[in-house]
This record gives sequence, C-alpha cells and structure tokens, in this order.
Amino acid sequence: MMRLQKINGFIVYGFPLGEADQLVSCFTSSGNLVKFVAKGSRKVKSKSAAAVQLFILGQYIIYRGKGLPILRQADIMDSFSPLRQDWAKCGAAFAAMELCRLLIAEEAREVDAFKLLLAYMLHLKTNPYDPIVFDSFRLKFAAYLGYEMNFSSCSQCGRPLQSGWLYWPAGGAVCSVCKGPARLSIRKEDLSLLHTLGSRDFSYLQGKFPSQGKAATEIIDSLINWLTEGKTKAQAFRPLFES
Ligand SMILES: [Zn+2]
Repeated sequence: MMRLQKINGFIVYGFPLGEADQLVSCFTSSGNLVKFVAKGSRKVKSKSAAAVQLFILGQYIIYRGKGLPILRQADIMDSFSPLRQDWAKCGAAFAAMELCRLLIAEEAREVDAFKLLLAYMLHLKTNPYDPIVFDSFRLKFAAYLGYEMNFSSCSQCGRPLQSGWLYWPAGGAVCSVCKGPARLSIRKEDLSLLHTLGSRDFSYLQGKFPSQGKAATEIIDSLINWLTEGKTKAQAFRPLFES
C-alpha cells in the first residue's frame, strides 16, 4: 500500500503540538477534512511554516504511517496575499476557514462546498469586502452541507409568506400559524433579500445592497450559531469593520 498521499486544499486550522510542531487541518478539494502533523513548522527557519498558515491554498504530500499523518512536502498554490493586508478581508477569510473546521467531517466528500469556498476566496481577492457577499457565502455554504433554508414559503405548510418567523429546525421561515416555538420574526423585505443571497452569485451581489443587510446578517448569524452549536468565534470580527 502506497503510504504517500497528495492532497490539495485550504489550511483551515493549526494547533500547536509540543515546542515546534503543529497539528494542521486541511479542507481538501475532495471535500474532506484531513489532519496531519507539520513537524518543525513553528520554527522560524522552517521551510513548511509559510505553507501551513491559515487560508493558504496548497499542495501537500502526507505520509500515512502509524498514528497521525506526517507532512512530507508542501507547496503553496495561492497565498491570497491581498487578503492578508486588509483587516476586513482577513477577518472574512478566517471566519470562512472556521466554518470549514467546525462543519466539515473527515470523510465528508463535500466537493461543492470546497468549490464554493474557493470561489469566495477568489472573489475576496479581487473585490472590496462586502458584508452581503460574505452573508451569501455563509448561507450557500450551509445549503451545500444540506441545510438549505426556505425563505419564500412556509417551511411547514407551504403557504406563501408575506412576513414570517424563523425556525431553523423546520427548514427556514414559517408562517404565524405554524410558528411553534419560533421567536425570531422576519419582515417581507428581509425574506426577499435572504432569498436573493441564497440564489444569486457573488459578482451579482457585490456592491448591490449597500446598508440593507443588517437584518439578514443577524439572521444568518443565528443560522450559523445554530449549525455550529454556538462554537463559532470568528464571525465576531464583523462589528469591528462594519460599524
Ligand atoms: Zn405554515
């Protein structure tokens, strides 16, 4: 059995191991979360240090022996350097990586979610940070993982919605009759904006809805909190840039 494996993907997490090593999580182009040890990667002179930083897109050759896989060779495919010089873009990229770390399983095969992440990172590289586009990414990412939320009709009885209530376990918005334990109410214009965020591409949305997205952001925050069981931290970067 060949024990060397070549993977391409984004570094989504690095955890210090001992004095000089890191346990790295990589979201691969095959849609899986692969963990490996990058030996010596916390030493200043390490060759692999740059290639295992957060949100590097790289090609990694790992050796699968006994215990955790070990990194043997690392090559940077895209360092996304324009994002690293911009606090808002950097915050959005960190938050995107955190979502992958929290929501992608080891053998998940979420290829479409990987393609979405890549598309968002490339969009962020060449466009100014836009909160609406970030929200669209988060909403679509959830949808690709099987949490596609419905904002145009009641998720319980199918009645068309004017306004409604949000109840994630039901699959999105519900009408006042089906409200159940839902507590978050939602206005008609926000339902329609959320529908647009889930269905239009990033370049269409870029710059199109200045200062209209505050309610949508809160709603998607609530969705992400529900999905990650409150474990998300990086989403909190936003008030720093959007006030
Ligand atoms: Zn209903």
